[in-house]
Amino acid sequence: MMRIVAGGFHIESSTFTPYISGTADFTVRRGADLAARYPWIADQRFGEDLEWVPIVHAGALPGGVVDRDFYDSWEAEFLTGIERELQSPGGVQGVLLDIHGAASVEGMMDAEGQLAVKLRDLVGPDVRISTSMDLHGNVSPDLFESCDLLTCYRTAPHIDSPETRERAAELLVQALRTDQPIYRARVAVPILLPGEKTSTVVEPGKSLYGMIKPLIADYDLWDAAIWMGFPWADQPRCHGVVVVSGQDQAGVRAAAEELGAAFWRAGTDFDFVGPTAPVEDAITEALNSPQAPFFISDTGDNPGAGGYGDSLALLRPLFAAWVAGPKRPSVLFASLFAPDLAPSLELGQEDVFELFQESDPSQPALPFPALVEKVWDDERAGRCAVLSAVTPVNAQLLESAQLGEVPPTFRVIVTEKRMQYAAEEDFARAGFAEFTDPMTDEPLGVVTVKIGYLEPDLAQASKGWVMALSEGAVNQDLVSLDFRELSHPLLPFDQFAGDPDLAAELLES
Ligand SMILES: [Zn+2]
Repeated sequence: MMRIVAGGFHIESSTFTPYISGTADFTVRRGADLAARYPWIADQRFGEDLEWVPIVHAGALPGGVVDRDFYDSWEAEFLTGIERELQSPGGVQGVLLDIHGAASVEGMMDAEGQLAVKLRDLVGPDVRISTSMDLHGNVSPDLFESCDLLTCYRTAPHIDSPETRERAAELLVQALRTDQPIYRARVAVPILLPGEKTSTVVEPGKSLYGMIKPLIADYDLWDAAIWMGFPWADQPRCHGVVVVSGQDQAGVRAAAEELGAAFWRAGTDFDFVGPTAPVEDAITEALNSPQAPFFISDTGDNPGAGGYGDSLALLRPLFAAWVAGPKRPSVLFASLFAPDLAPSLELGQEDVFELFQESDPSQPALPFPALVEKVWDDERAGRCAVLSAVTPVNAQLLESAQLGEVPPTFRVIVTEKRMQYAAEEDFARAGFAEFTDPMTDEPLGVVTVKIGYLEPDLAQASKGWVMALSEGAVNQDLVSLDFRELSHPLLPFDQFAGDPDLAAELLES
């Protein structure tokens, strides 16, 4: 019987947001609950001579830097659990390390790398470690050196998370069943790109990730993987990496260098996967568009990549432009994280509400004269309210609305918890099923969402769309962020006179 322990830590977290991700943000799984994440345990598809032991896994939506006490307690439970299994009669022969790879933790520059070093020290040189990751994770030298095998997703948007975990497990079993050396090669590619440029469904990402399967076949590899790296953390490890593994030393090296060179050549071809515009231009386009609904992505504050969700960088100028006219389509701003304001609101209340940017107190509040049109307890966003603007340009019309005149509306959804309006059902709970204005039964004119590329429901509903290059913790214009710790030279921050050194580092285990 061979015994394999499994577990890990899964979050991508921005160092540019003041939000701290902690206990409340994580789902912690153990025992049978964690075993369900690894379906090959139940049906023993990799062999009946394997015993899989789930230890602990903590996963969260993207956020800010992880609270150190929370991380330390998870790490202690994980390592102590493995130590206990090491001392059991069967011992431990393999570890499946199930991580994202972009956890920013208070006081740590390379959380997963430091974890892998501790793990290797604990289990010793003979236990095999196989790692499953997100392609937006980072592979530092420490992580690479401590793990025998590393792989990551091959799709963005990610539709292959379960199969990636399964591939990492299968590679681990393969490693346990061989007594011949396994080689792995890493090439660091000095590029850092925002996710909105690196979808694998459009070029050049499509062709680059399309190389993986033919390369594995041509060189008779075990695996080949491409990490884009995480662009919103200020750490030396954040950049592109390729890792290739197999049993043919020369082939592993050659394939890694071929893939690394292709990644570098594609470097300057990566571009936004949809239309982009500066904030003012995006607003002008949206307010004047005859297409409804017209979506604006508030990209700089996307909670799906670690944004705080409270930025006024788009709301403030959008509201001002709407009030100034001349075009006033119905606008829905979804949404603003307002943890103090949202729970305090009552249906029918009318006031000039002060909208604050909690994460940046230096920003002046936005006075928002409005009526509380709806309040509800949302399964994801906590206590929520819809604020509908009451301004000189629509107040009179609002009063006469029952006479049949349609007033222009400008609504803001405020939420108690960080929230991303990414699916139609989220809008339906807020009263905007099928992106329709409940007052007119017509499509909403302009809908803003804190997101990058549109998720499927939104893409399907949208009649027009622009990604506003707004300021924020996940600013798409990386050069404008205050990076200090990155490894240089690095695209797009530095000029390259020629090609960088793309030689592979080769290790054997
Ligand atoms: Zn990702």
